[in-house]
Amino acid sequence: MLSRKEFLRLSGLVSLAGVVGKSAGASQKKRKSGPVVVSTWDFGLQANAAAWEILKNNGYALDAVEAGVAVPERDPRVTSVGLGGFPDRDGRVTLDACIMDEQLNCGSVACLEHIVHPAAVARRVMEKTPHVMLSGEGALRFALDQGFKTENLLIPQVEAAWKEWLKKADYNPQPNWELNHDTIGMLALDKQNRLSGVCTTSGMAWKMHGRVGDSPIIGAGLYVDGEVGGATCSGLGEEMIRIAASHSVVEAMRSGKSPQAACEAVVRRYYKRRGELAHGKQVCLLAMDNAGNVGAFSLMPGFVYAITHEGKNEVRKAGYLLEK
Ligand code: ASP
Repeated sequence: MLSRKEFLRLSGLVSLAGVVGKSAGASQKKRKSGPVVVSTWDFGLQANAAAWEILKNNGYALDAVEAGVAVPERDPRVTSVGLGGFPDRDGRVTLDACIMDEQLNCGSVACLEHIVHPAAVARRVMEKTPHVMLSGEGALRFALDQGFKTENLLIPQVEAAWKEWLKKADYNPQPNWELNHDTIGMLALDKQNRLSGVCTTSGMAWKMHGRVGDSPIIGAGLYVDGEVGGATCSGLGEEMIRIAASHSVVEAMRSGKSPQAACEAVVRRYYKRRGELAHGKQVCLLAMDNAGNVGAFSLMPGFVYAITHEGKNEVRKAGYLLEK
C-alpha cells in the first residue's frame, strides 16, 4: 500500500508552458529562435552565463557546455561539484563527469581525483581515446598525460565538514538529500542547431570510496541525440541508474512526447515501479528537444533549473509528483 498522496503541481507546469512553448510532439516542433542553454539548480545561472558567451558568438554547443560547467567546478563555494566538493567517507574527493555531442560522441570519467575539471577530461576521453569511459587511477593518469594539473580539492572548510561528519559517520542519503548533493547537468543548443550536454559532480557526500553515481554514466546522468534532444539528471544517482533516466527521457521524446511530457512520464513510471522504495529519494529530470523546447520534472519538490534564452537568464521551479 502506498502511504503517500500524489500531487501533480500544475502551477509549476503552467508557468513552464509559457516559457518553453507548447508541448508539441516531435513532428510539430517549432525551432526557438537563437541558442538556448539550461542547467540544473540555481548555480546553473553563472554556468549558463559562461556558456552563453560562447553561444551568442555563434560558438559550438559542446564548447559552451564545457566552459559553462567549468564555473561551478572551479567555485569552492559549490560543495557538490569539482573544487570544494564534499569527499567520500575516507576524505577523498572523487569526481564523476560525462559529455556528449549531437552525433552520439561521448566521453566520461568516474572516480577521478585531484583534477578540478573532470568534464574537460571527459571531453578528452571522447576526442583523444578509442574509449568512452575511464575511471580512477587510469582516468587520473590520462588527465596528467593530457596536461591537466593536480590540485588539492579537499579545501579546509570541506575537510572540517568531513571531520564533523566522521564523529557520527552516519550515511543515510534519504532524509537529507537537500544537503549533500547537487550535480550540474547542462544542455545547450547552438545557432547551428547542434545540441550538446554535460554532467559533472562530486557525487553523494560521504559515499563509499569507489562509489560511482549516475552522473558519468551515458544514458543515466546524461544522454543526447541531436536527432531528438537531450536530458540530464540530478538527485540520488542509484535511482537514475536503475531507470536509465536520461536515455528514457530522450526515447520518450523520440516517440513524440514534448520534453515536459517526457520528464513527467519517466518520473511517473519510476514511481509506479518503485512505490514505497522511492519515498524520501529524489529524482530530478531536465530535458531539451532539438528545437530548444525545455521540460523539467522531479519526484519531490525543490528542483529548480536555470534557463538562458535570448540573453535572459533565470531560475525556474520544476513541477513534481509527490509532496514531502
Ligand atoms: N546524482 C548525483 C549522484 O548521485 C548527485 C546529485 O545529483 O546531487 O552522484
